[in-house]
Amino acid sequence: MNNRLAVIDKKLCAPDRCGHECAANCPVNKLRQECVVVEEIVRIDENLCTGCGICVKKCPFHAITIIKNAAPDPEKLVYSYGANSFKLYGLALPRKGVTAMIGENGCGKSTNAKLLSGALTPQNLPTAELREYYKQEHGIAFKPQELHAGVKGKVNELLEKIDDGQLNELKKLFDLDKVWNREFKHLSGGELQKVVVAATLMQDEQAFVLDEPFAFLDYVYRIRLINYLKEKFSNKNVLLIDHDISLLSYVSENAYLLYGVNGAFGSVSQSYATDRAINMFLEGFIAPENVKFRGQPIKYKSYNEEKLGDELYVLQPARVKFESFTVENKHSLTLHQGEIVGVAGPNGIGKTTLIKEYCSQDPDNLILKPQILERGDFLAAKYMRTDSPFTQIFVEDMGLKQLEYYKLNDLSGGELQKIRVFECLSSEKHNVYVLDEPTNMLDVKARISLSKMLREKAKEGKAVLVVDHDLEFLLNTVDRLIVMDGEPAERGEVKGIYHKDEGVRLLLKKFDLTYRRDPPTKRLKLNKAGSQKDAALKKSGEFVETR
Ligand code: SF4
Ligand code: SF4
Repeated sequence: MNNRLAVIDKKLCAPDRCGHECAANCPVNKLRQECVVVEEIVRIDENLCTGCGICVKKCPFHAITIIKNAAPDPEKLVYSYGANSFKLYGLALPRKGVTAMIGENGCGKSTNAKLLSGALTPQNLPTAELREYYKQEHGIAFKPQELHAGVKGKVNELLEKIDDGQLNELKKLFDLDKVWNREFKHLSGGELQKVVVAATLMQDEQAFVLDEPFAFLDYVYRIRLINYLKEKFSNKNVLLIDHDISLLSYVSENAYLLYGVNGAFGSVSQSYATDRAINMFLEGFIAPENVKFRGQPIKYKSYNEEKLGDELYVLQPARVKFESFTVENKHSLTLHQGEIVGVAGPNGIGKTTLIKEYCSQDPDNLILKPQILERGDFLAAKYMRTDSPFTQIFVEDMGLKQLEYYKLNDLSGGELQKIRVFECLSSEKHNVYVLDEPTNMLDVKARISLSKMLREKAKEGKAVLVVDHDLEFLLNTVDRLIVMDGEPAERGEVKGIYHKDEGVRLLLKKFDLTYRRDPPTKRLKLNKAGSQKDAALKKSGEFVETR
């Protein structure tokens, strides 16, 4: 028996709308064996399949994935959604304290969470640890990755109802008093994230799964959350999944790796010391298990800085008032051809409000990719274009071709993010492309690809304005940084526009944080407050080690 996997995407396979190209072209079928059988959807016999891949190429809807050599050991299978369906091998458990999971998009994070919560039941328990874990019943509190803007009601109504005694502390931790009487629909992404994380932590459970809790949060709140978990949840079991690897070794001692093939299978490694796990993840090779799950290592690259091009657009002074909140830019900020400018600052000081204002004032020149992403009942193909060198590179590099026959409602958060970024950048008639938190829900590899895509767009002589909290992404992507400051939920202002290194230093000074570089990979690592490195970087005024 081989360990080949043939996975059919049931949302895409539509025998009534195709010519059954998969069955018609399968060389095993041509030998009169039933390898590919078309019924209501297609069924592939994995024992007969040779892995030639012809059906994958012939299916007009990209419904088939064949894994030829890299399928995991079948004995490690924990859950399968059925024949020719997604499979999860291994399972990450929330152990005492905080354990991290570093993963690739589409490899089974939510299946892992459903198995922990009891929404799915494991079909096989391959290790003694899993057998022991499942001897008892476990309730679990789950913070989902995606935040929904459509939640009705007010912040206080929700949180007071579920207060378990932590409310006052969490309110202070996240400065929720500033949005206490606000309706959910008026919250920024960061404010919504704080409310959802607080609501999750107040659940009366022993185990917690936090899926991307740092997304939308500035570094002050990320660090506050980490310290809170370390202090208050050391006797609970927390599994924390996030793509900000600069923070993971600060929050957790140990981490699992999750890898596989998007939508086809996921495999969970054993747990390792977090730093080691991160470096193996970047390398794409888990040495102790002798598993190579990626052809090429992930490498952070800084681009060669070029001289600024001609002046392209000026963001004029502006002031926006909403109820008692005001955000203001008193400067004329000139954007140049070929330039990428970051926008960064604490949560709740009006970054989104300000860029939305600029985009609505001049929709002919500025186009926005919003922070909260809308879904819809139409196909991603609606946005798919490959009629220019830029769109061809983007579709290829970000793996969009595979998504074209999905409805937006059926995409994962990361896939939806890629489509919405593409929708924005593929417009040709604008001069300034404005992206609000485009790295949210993207895994590490996709963030690096996104950085490359923004550079490609800028090369067309356009300018890109990008609001984001991911320091590694900002340092590797932007030329200059607009730094904002203010009093969350009360007022915000633009401090100025700076060379990116200077801008990042100003931000870190404001947040009172420093970062060092991991020697082998050069990735950023947060320093412990008061450590020797922290003190030295503060004293020198550098705040972050250069590569
Ligand atoms: S797998 Fe593709 S070619 Fe085969 S029946 Fe389904 S949609 Fe048609
Ligand atoms: S990979 Fe080749 S052998 Fe396997 S089902 Fe597809 S066409 Fe048939």
